[in-house]
Amino acid sequence: MHIPNRQSALEALQRFLPHAGENYASRRNFVSAPLVEANVSGLSPWVRTRLLQEWEIIEHVLHQHSASAASKFIDEVCWRTYWKGWLQLRPAVWEQYLAELNQARKVSFMDATYQAVLAGQSGIECVDQWTQELQQTGYLHNHVRMWYASIWIHTLKLPWVLGADLFMQYLLDGDPASNTLSWRWVAGLHTKGKTYLANPDNIQKYTQGRFEVKERLATEAVIPKSFPIQQPRSLPSLGPLPQKKSRVGVLLQEDDVRALNWLVTNQDTAEIHIAGYFSPAVYSVNKIAPMVAQFRQESLQSVLQADHPLFNDVDSVSNWAVTKQLDAVLMAEVPTGMWDSKIQDLQSVVEAQGVKLSMQRCPWDAHFYPLAKAGFFRFKQGISAALHSVVSSS
Ligand SMILES: Cc1cc2nc3c(=O)[nH]c(=O)nc-3n(C[C@H](O)[C@H](O)[C@H](O)COP(=O)(O)OP(=O)(O)OC[C@H]3O[C@@H](n4cnc5c(N)ncnc54)[C@H](O)[C@@H]3O)c2cc1C
Repeated sequence: MHIPNRQSALEALQRFLPHAGENYASRRNFVSAPLVEANVSGLSPWVRTRLLQEWEIIEHVLHQHSASAASKFIDEVCWRTYWKGWLQLRPAVWEQYLAELNQARKVSFMDATYQAVLAGQSGIECVDQWTQELQQTGYLHNHVRMWYASIWIHTLKLPWVLGADLFMQYLLDGDPASNTLSWRWVAGLHTKGKTYLANPDNIQKYTQGRFEVKERLATEAVIPKSFPIQQPRSLPSLGPLPQKKSRVGVLLQEDDVRALNWLVTNQDTAEIHIAGYFSPAVYSVNKIAPMVAQFRQESLQSVLQADHPLFNDVDSVSNWAVTKQLDAVLMAEVPTGMWDSKIQDLQSVVEAQGVKLSMQRCPWDAHFYPLAKAGFFRFKQGISAALHSVVSSS
């Protein structure tokens, strides 16, 4: 059960910490029902909004385990950063996903298999249980996500974009980078010549006999047609830091609800005003389940104090900036995905009032994103140096 506040996130982290070493390395692929935090952490919904920031999770882990004992867990935490950096460097991949999704949605209502899977009646018992679990809890184990995506694409022959969309609708941790790129990887679109095929023995073994798949699963993959992957661009440049003695607004948003702890360090400001911004419109346009929208909004709300307003539209942010006579508004960078289009509106409305809206990249992302130009193997070689500089300075 994921409760959207820091206290619950910290308690879950404490429960998992003893297991983050050897146990995680050897047990993480086993899927228990319900989620047992001894195998995997179950932290992803809190990591998604950074109610738990990656660097603090790793710091806690390193208090209990050596870096080598916890290396598998640390790698997995860094996979999320890798995917985010990878997409940030190649935003066209997200645009292409949206274009393909819009096409697929137009005909999806006529697709009987798609409708049957959504209704939990695919005829494959494990798939139907996992659909229900996803829709009810907003969480699936990583191994289940891999099997599910594989059966969806390679056995049921459904468009991968509709599967990625289903996950984005229901996962509490739904993340444009990790989700889209993992679905692409299973489909065979990410790493040349590599697809992921689920097989019944593997499902039976790692669910400890709970699912005996009698249906024939695909043993060969047909890689869907897609666009070529663009070369990495330069990372978008960030806005300037506010001048000394200025009146600064800090606008917290759902990608890093605790950004206050890195956004305004060492700044000689005249006054700081804090507010939150959450756009329900982005959720409804993208048909995201109310439980997900609620989890994200409440996560943000949970870090705001009584005198910190939470705004749901850009005009209210702009009025706040004017009323408080702000010189600049600081925000954590919004990563590539469905939320960044709203940020462009926000920027133009706020800046029309003569207030500079300035995005900043946290030290963790700034350190890692440039390493996401190639594969994870190369990225991973940068982890130990990064841990040293980022964790010890945070
Ligand atoms: C098809 C598919 C879709 C996915 N969609 C998402 C998504 O929308 N959002 C998301 O956060 N993850 C996604 N993942 C990655 C992974 O499944 C989840 O991060 C993980 O299952 C979360 O559970 P946990 O917190 O118990 O993970 P743990 O195993 O305890 O890992 C700790 C943390 O590391 C990160 N992490 C672990 N594994 C991965 C991974 N393979 N890729 C990226 N980050 C990882 C997560 O932040 C996680 O909370 C997807 C994977 C697949 C195969």
